[in-house]
Amino acid sequence: MKILVTGGSGYIASWIIKYLLEQGHQVNTTVRDLSNEAKIFHLKQLEKEKEGKLHFYEADLLEEGSFDEAVKDCGVVIHSASPFKVSGIKDPVKQLVEPAVKGTRNVLRAVSRAKSVKKVVLTSSVAAIYGDNADIKNIEGTKFTEEHWNTSSSEKHQAYSYSKTEAEKVAWQMANEQQRWKLAVINPGFVVGPSITKRKDSTSISLIISFLNGTYKSGVPELYFGMVDVRNAAMAHLNAATKPDAEGRHILVSETLSMPELAKILHDHLGDQYKIPGSSIPKWLLFLVGPFSGFNWKFIRQNVGIPVYFDNTRAKNNLDIEFIPVSQSIREQAEQVISDGLVEK
Ligand code: NAP
Repeated sequence: MKILVTGGSGYIASWIIKYLLEQGHQVNTTVRDLSNEAKIFHLKQLEKEKEGKLHFYEADLLEEGSFDEAVKDCGVVIHSASPFKVSGIKDPVKQLVEPAVKGTRNVLRAVSRAKSVKKVVLTSSVAAIYGDNADIKNIEGTKFTEEHWNTSSSEKHQAYSYSKTEAEKVAWQMANEQQRWKLAVINPGFVVGPSITKRKDSTSISLIISFLNGTYKSGVPELYFGMVDVRNAAMAHLNAATKPDAEGRHILVSETLSMPELAKILHDHLGDQYKIPGSSIPKWLLFLVGPFSGFNWKFIRQNVGIPVYFDNTRAKNNLDIEFIPVSQSIREQAEQVISDGLVEK
């Protein structure tokens, strides 16, 4: 089967492509800039190993029609490209919401024009399920499920989560307007685990690097995230793509962990060789210093110290996912960023 993966240079998409090639599929992938050797070096290696099986196309989410060529003759489209940034954003609409939403529409219009496509797998996020951790207090039950939608994010508050929510809504609207292709959505928590790209600018990679290089040496807030291994995330896309019955949303979370717990896993594994955060920053102190370090009061109030939990039954049953323990993913990711020379002691 010929499968298109958008945003092939990304952290998650790179694993998806690796597994698709290993399973013998023909893969098309889009990248923003074919001349950016650093971003696609690892994919070129895969192309060499599986001669004639991987084809590259240039496409930008904001460029109408730019995915048409890449979609041609594909049976499945895995749409993974979308900006994933939670800090350093100056214009959330231009940098996050427009590429996510217009990009999804753009890719799905290409799908509509290419009559070969029978299945679309969208990389959404748990960010489309909930916005702030405090949202868990407003649901029935104790865990977020695929029934829940993020209603608390906006362009001004948790803009990344808003971008993922609006993009997923567009996908469902377009899926429901036609009969030819089915939509399967993957809603991963924060993705961790070793990377096959050596890029540092991907949020999942830069977070682990900043836990090792001293960025947080004065401590981390008690922020809780649902987390999942990148190999589970990639395999969920593959199984959603190839199982004819797989459709609908799938929460992909192995466990919930706090930032101090993540630091402890790293410290237990690596000892004092790296500047790993040793303590958590109390909430009252965050209210004082947060606004100077990118945490506003609303964010702190609605998120710090509030655990969130997820029902991952659908991913286990429908996509055959056996979750990798997050502590293992984090240890392996730390070893990878260190051996790839991405962290200084
Ligand atoms: P990543 O490494 O930053 O990859 C993002 C990809 O999107 C890159 O290939 C990037 O291309 C591409 N992209 C961004 N803006 C684009 C544009 N305007 N036109 C074309 N391509 C564009 O992030 P990732 O973690 O792999 O994320 C992949 C997907 O998973 C995203 O949809 C993200 O929202 C979702 N997700 C991630 C996590 C996580 O924890 N990592 C959790 C849940 C969901 P360049 O290589 O050119 O920059």
